[in-house]
Amino acid sequence: MPADQQLPTIAAYAGVRADYAPSAHPDAQGALVTAVRPESPADDMGIEPGMRVLTVNGQDLTDMIVWLWEADDETVDLTVLDPSDNTVSPCTLERFEGEDWGLEFDGAVFDGMRTCVNACVFCFMTMLPKGSRDSLSIRDDDYRLSFLQGNFVTLTNMTDEDVDNVINRCLSPMNVSLHAITPEVRRRIMGKNAARGIEVLERLMAADIEIHAQIVLCPGINDGEELDRTLAYCEAHPQITSLGIVPLGFTKHQNRFTTSFSDDPAAARAIIEQVRPYQQRAYERFGRHTFQMSDEFYLDAEVEVPPATWYDGYPQYYDGIGMIRSYRDDTDEMLSEPQRLERIREGLSRAGLKLTVVSGTSAADTVARFVESDALGGAVAPIRNDYFGGNVDVTGLICAGDLLAQLPRSLAGVMLILPSVMFNADGMTLDGYHQTDILNELTRRGAQALIVSTMPRELADALESALGLS
Ligand code: SF4
Repeated sequence: MPADQQLPTIAAYAGVRADYAPSAHPDAQGALVTAVRPESPADDMGIEPGMRVLTVNGQDLTDMIVWLWEADDETVDLTVLDPSDNTVSPCTLERFEGEDWGLEFDGAVFDGMRTCVNACVFCFMTMLPKGSRDSLSIRDDDYRLSFLQGNFVTLTNMTDEDVDNVINRCLSPMNVSLHAITPEVRRRIMGKNAARGIEVLERLMAADIEIHAQIVLCPGINDGEELDRTLAYCEAHPQITSLGIVPLGFTKHQNRFTTSFSDDPAAARAIIEQVRPYQQRAYERFGRHTFQMSDEFYLDAEVEVPPATWYDGYPQYYDGIGMIRSYRDDTDEMLSEPQRLERIREGLSRAGLKLTVVSGTSAADTVARFVESDALGGAVAPIRNDYFGGNVDVTGLICAGDLLAQLPRSLAGVMLILPSVMFNADGMTLDGYHQTDILNELTRRGAQALIVSTMPRELADALESALGLS
């Protein structure tokens, strides 16, 4: 989950974030070495997996930021703990220009994840089914992962020392959850520490740290005039180079929310219209649209998503902003050269297989335009999210229980594509199934199942490979 645990939005047909993560051993000192490249500078100095790097150039090695900052040279001084005999030894690594040190660490944050001090009304943690995995309930809000992997953070738990660290090390851009600008509204949304987030944000912007901001738009809370105030604030701060606006998501496992923009196309259209003048003025001033609506708003409003040029290079792609445009443009490109798809279709036919691609319900029409095209001739299997319920309908949150319950008992002759975004880095779904068990069950039903990205080009690559056509 992203640091800011609001429900992921249209999440990911094919999204892959950087795979930094918290260390699995945050209580131990320094950074655990998980791999050493043979004949690398680290290998030459006898560093081995299992050892711990305690300091780098005299600084405690607390996170990858310290490492990237301190090790950006041709020599680096380390102290290394060898747990086999509990000795701590100094060593100096040297490298040629452009050579990497040959070290891999366990995660990116080695001294424990900074946890959140908020109580957001839309927090995913408060909307989980009973008995969910403990790992889903980790409320992380660590500014270091904003820089390292693009997590959205609220800044409310940052100390002055943390702020100095961001400024002194130029950790830019930072991804920041803004939500609202009026103190009372912020307090209502995020809780009693909300004011600290704005203090920190303004210090960062004064130091010219670039900000990608986000609003989770909750009907009746931070829309209407408050939305205008927040947009005007962003307009007045050019350091905010993108602002993503995503609609409230909610599950059935809570009592606070029963509706969102997903139930109200007119309200979704009104938000799109409200934001448009800000987009136009930003474009006139800076040549970028800056204010970006998540894909869900366009789906909810039942209007076409804007052209690719409106997405300014997709700075918030992995937060569900621009994925549909990107998928549609990829589809157009692939359909403009149908011979490749026809070859795949023939390959499937020769193998006696019929292509079926799993999707969340919100993305099903978009995916179908590619998968069910005449050239490819497959079918989409939209999976309703009964596990979370509410307005959860995205591909990235499909759960194994729903998948297995809604797919047919017999899948003989089916080439079944499972979107890779359903699984975390350990191959687990949100309801705690491992991909191996799911694949075994689908194989038992007769399917030939693959877990791949369902973006058109990547899906075509995977099918060609599976069919021996590449
Ligand atoms: S309460 Fe914490 S974890 Fe939950 S949405 Fe807010 S910042 Fe994120």
